[in-house]
Amino acid sequence: MSYKAEYIWIDGTSPTAKLRSKTKILADGAEPPVWGFDGSSTNQAEGHASDRVLKPVASYPDPIRGGDDILVLCEVYNTDDTPHTSNTRALLRPVAEKFAAQEPVFGIEQEYTFFEGSRPLGFPEGGFPAPQGGYYCGVGVDEIHGRDIVEAHLENCLKAGLGISGINAEVMPGQWEFQVGPLSPLEVADQLWVARWLLYRTAEDFGVAATLDPKPVKGDWNGAGAHTNFSTKAMREGYEAIITACESLGKDGKPLEHVKNYGVGVEDRLTGAHETAPWDQYSYGVSDRGASVRIPWQVERDKKGYIEDRRPNANVDPYVVTRLITDTCGTALAE
Ligand code: ADP
Ligand code: MN
Ligand code: MN
Ligand code: MN
Ligand code: MN
Repeated sequence: MSYKAEYIWIDGTSPTAKLRSKTKILADGAEPPVWGFDGSSTNQAEGHASDRVLKPVASYPDPIRGGDDILVLCEVYNTDDTPHTSNTRALLRPVAEKFAAQEPVFGIEQEYTFFEGSRPLGFPEGGFPAPQGGYYCGVGVDEIHGRDIVEAHLENCLKAGLGISGINAEVMPGQWEFQVGPLSPLEVADQLWVARWLLYRTAEDFGVAATLDPKPVKGDWNGAGAHTNFSTKAMREGYEAIITACESLGKDGKPLEHVKNYGVGVEDRLTGAHETAPWDQYSYGVSDRGASVRIPWQVERDKKGYIEDRRPNANVDPYVVTRLITDTCGTALAE
């Protein structure tokens, strides 16, 4: 007997990395071993020295194939056993370890858009649907496009054992969101990448593409973000730590350092309109969806909880955003 392991990794496509995967047949009972691939086909190597290494770091039941089959998330290494430059998970590991005693956890809201051909799902041929207003958390065929895919994706995430915590229809037709977390930095980032892979793979069976494009339609249509909710043990226990975290994200140099690593095209989405703060101005506030960082109203009332960094783009690398926030807030909270 044998089983199938789908090895998943993040490639070197610039400016936004893509997911890749391939299948290995394993003998019953065998652990997924280190494997390799052709890095010259993924922007991770030159043709004359093309081998790159896949090191399994997490595995999940495969909800697509079922049975004993698994999904295997990997880190990409060079043949000299150093992490490849595209391997941002390797940079998160030491930061997560350094601040582990603070018990940082994240919940990431992944917004995305379905496309059928060149149009978002639900956009009429050669025109535009009714303006935004009724679509967010809507119901009915006039407002909802792709719910069957969204439900199938949710079911697949649950079967894979991912910590998905909810879904909702978004402000633009064909635009949706799922949330992963709260989980530790490495867990949330690993699981978000796997949930993205499952999104593309699930939609594939419906003949539909899903995109993390942060501004899929120009003009008066909402962009797609990846609001990143964050807390440490101290923040879950008291308000002073909440304010310390908010302030630390605004200290000299930090707003720009964060924003330029919050996904490609962040300036196009963080315009100050469509529930965003301008990308070059840092602000935080209670219930304020026009601020860079929002303190949810319950958190202000309870004087403890978490904060929401609203700036990351839908196409952000979760290994990067969790590293930056863990480091910036963690350093301030340790003082
Ligand atoms: P929004 O009102 O911004 O749309 P959502 O319900 O979509 O909020 O997402 C809130 C996210 O915050 C969820 O992913 C949830 O897991 C996460 N979250 C809840 N509590 C915490 C916490 N203490 N620390 C970090 N994240 C949290
Ligand atoms: Mn080959
Ligand atoms: Mn949300
Ligand atoms: Mn949203
Ligand atoms: Mn949000």
